[in-house]
Amino acid sequence: MRLRHKPWAGEKLGQYPQYAIADPETHKGNWAEVFGNPNPIHIEVGTGKGQFVTEMARANPDINYIGIELYDSVIITALDRLIEAELPNVKLLNVNAKDLKEYFEKGDVDRVYLNFSDPWPKNRHEKRRLTYKDFLKLYEEILVDEGEIHFKTDNQGLFEYSLQSFSHYGLLLTYLSLDLHKSEFEGNIMTEYEEKFSAKGQRIYRCEVKYRS
Ligand code: SAM
Repeated sequence: MRLRHKPWAGEKLGQYPQYAIADPETHKGNWAEVFGNPNPIHIEVGTGKGQFVTEMARANPDINYIGIELYDSVIITALDRLIEAELPNVKLLNVNAKDLKEYFEKGDVDRVYLNFSDPWPKNRHEKRRLTYKDFLKLYEEILVDEGEIHFKTDNQGLFEYSLQSFSHYGLLLTYLSLDLHKSEFEGNIMTEYEEKFSAKGQRIYRCEVKYRS
């Protein structure tokens, strides 16, 4: 993703505490208080400009969504969407996913979404892939028992790598599509990257995996 420096982004995030959570570590184990209800929590790791979490939240008012994004210059667009949409069931965290355990405890999260994660194709960057084993362990440590990861990407290499990584970790594959947009999968919500790549004719790979109890 091309990043434009937006020095004002951090300040604007601070002006909307109802959407951008400034002190997520203080809510560890108590996210129901943030949302004002005990509904399930689904997080998108690497939410980018937030189209997916916003539209998922609109379609599923009984689920709480948290979009997690490293760069404030990117997540600021997600904030603009939320200001416009006025949805009570989405929050944003401008943090690094490697620190997820600082913000969530075991059982806080019901599902992890990974959409069009950066592929990091070079072998020496394997540890940065969000489906690398260390990340799978991290998700397990914040998810409920038998929690799920739902993953989609246009990148065949990352998809193949991730299927292997899930399998080596012992995750159970419960859904697989090698061409999502031509499949019978219902209720797909497109992300920004998905719109961009599918408009170019690229196929979208999707899978769901589940931790074993
Ligand atoms: N999910 C969005 C979509 O499908 O349109 C954005 C995809 S974009 C290729 C990947 C996003 O993940 C980028 O915005 C990047 O900054 C974010 N990201 C990558 N590594 C991350 C990490 N460790 N923690 C939080 N966000 C991360």
